Amino acid sequence: MLTCRLCGATDLRSFCDLGATPPCELFLTPEAAGRPEVTYPLHVRVCNACLLAQLPPEITPEETFSEYAYFSSFSSSWVEHARRFVDDAAARAGLGPESFVVEVASNDGYLLQHVVAEGIRCLGVEPSVNVGEAAREKGVPTLTAFLTPQTGARVRAEHGPADLVCANNVFAHIPDVVGFAQGLRALVADDGWVSVEVQHLLTLVERRQFDTIYHEHFQYYTLLTGQRALAAGGLTLVDVEPLDTHGGSIRMWARPDGAAGEPSERVREVLAAEAAAGLHTPQGHDGFAEAVSTVRDDLVSFLIGARRRGQRVVGYGAPGKGNTLLNYCGIRPDLLAYTVDRNPYKHGRLTPGTRIPIHDPERITRDRPDYVLVLPWNLRTELTEQLAHVHDWGGRLVFPIPSLEVV
Ligand code: ZN
Repeated sequence: MLTCRLCGATDLRSFCDLGATPPCELFLTPEAAGRPEVTYPLHVRVCNACLLAQLPPEITPEETFSEYAYFSSFSSSWVEHARRFVDDAAARAGLGPESFVVEVASNDGYLLQHVVAEGIRCLGVEPSVNVGEAAREKGVPTLTAFLTPQTGARVRAEHGPADLVCANNVFAHIPDVVGFAQGLRALVADDGWVSVEVQHLLTLVERRQFDTIYHEHFQYYTLLTGQRALAAGGLTLVDVEPLDTHGGSIRMWARPDGAAGEPSERVREVLAAEAAAGLHTPQGHDGFAEAVSTVRDDLVSFLIGARRRGQRVVGYGAPGKGNTLLNYCGIRPDLLAYTVDRNPYKHGRLTPGTRIPIHDPERITRDRPDYVLVLPWNLRTELTEQLAHVHDWGGRLVFPIPSLEVV
């Protein structure tokens, strides 16, 4: 029986069932293509009691984090996002030379390096061994651990309470949501601040971003369920900032219950927008599955139509989320001959489940296909520029989400 991991209720309703798919980052070598592939159900449910949208933890974070290959510092816009955050947070929490900052899932020190530069004492808590090493090489003190109430208490005992604790893009990736919130509370000083960035379920629903659903992404938060999850650890939501990262995110600011005070006007505004979209009732979540089917129907009809007209369609990009889209839609090489990616690691490999070959982007210029299906829609502006030359031979770009667009 399924149990809500936030409130323990056993009454969960279907939100979005994307079938069974392999882990979205497991790109296949040609040799591996001859062997079976393991798939896991990708079925998000909403708790009828507390409304948390959640996936059962089929894949454990220990499996995905130990050899985590993603280094945040590879993205220069992300490092800049982190620098601005440190400036803002320092002002909000009144940080000075005596302060102490902890970042959970601190990755390669992309954020804390800015704290070190300000001369403020800090510590990263990062589960991936190799990524944490990269942080230490940068001069960012880093503890290799998952955040639990016990690790939180241990850090507090050794280093003192933190004036600021931040946890960016990790709150959705740890299935023990209550233990994680308790860990945040254990770290933070009684008058300190906690900052948590997560993708926002409101934009996921409004912009039909179902391809951001994948196995390692266990929870999908509204501000309301984020507030409830933080409260389970003894933290009160006081403010929220809407962000445009990951297609639409929120940065929640919380404080220990005793220090919190009234939530800001922005909290009331975002909660009101969620309620207006139906996300504060269980039934209000019901239309999403239908919207997702429509995206699939339109995309698959388009691909079949192009095939019947003898036109060639290839893909651009092989992001993890592209694999949720391709698998759910059942798109294989007969409908999408190949895709291309700038990451050389992926060249010569096949997309998991759908087994579409991945090539160097140069291939598109040589082949001059009729259509290029753009899989990383979150980079639309940037890619429309990069792919402008496709129009030179009369080719067109196809964007599948939020609704099919051929430009
Ligand atoms: Zn619940």
